[in-house]
Amino acid sequence: MTIQTNAWHPDTCGCAFEYTWDDQDLDRVRTLNKVIHVCDLHKIISLTPSSHYSTVSDENVRKNKLYGRFLGVSDLTQTDASGNVNFKNGVDVSFSWDGTDYARILSASITGYNLSGANKNSVQDWCDSTFGFGKVAIN
Ligand SMILES: [Zn+2]
Repeated sequence: MTIQTNAWHPDTCGCAFEYTWDDQDLDRVRTLNKVIHVCDLHKIISLTPSSHYSTVSDENVRKNKLYGRFLGVSDLTQTDASGNVNFKNGVDVSFSWDGTDYARILSASITGYNLSGANKNSVQDWCDSTFGFGKVAIN
């Protein structure tokens, strides 16, 4: 058992954290060691270091899972020779955030393809049941 220390700079905001993990732990459980930086969007005074870390982690996981959900929409994707599913050429998903602290809402937009209303509704319903109502807006 060797405890490793890493810095994490999420791609969903400007916060930064230092966490530790046991390199023998196959689950790679991360334990917050310290908050390195608090961004302007997560400055609420009631955020403790652990709730700050979990709030930012939840946002990052939400964005990553939604990206994966879009890769499950066959109209948007192609499969390469190795069997990897990617967005078709010219298709991309972009993310933005509204709000601050605990109440940030993730907005997602598809460019390069006009996603049908049925597909948008399907992804939105999945978001509402996976993350809770009002956490994600599909544009
Ligand atoms: Zn932040």
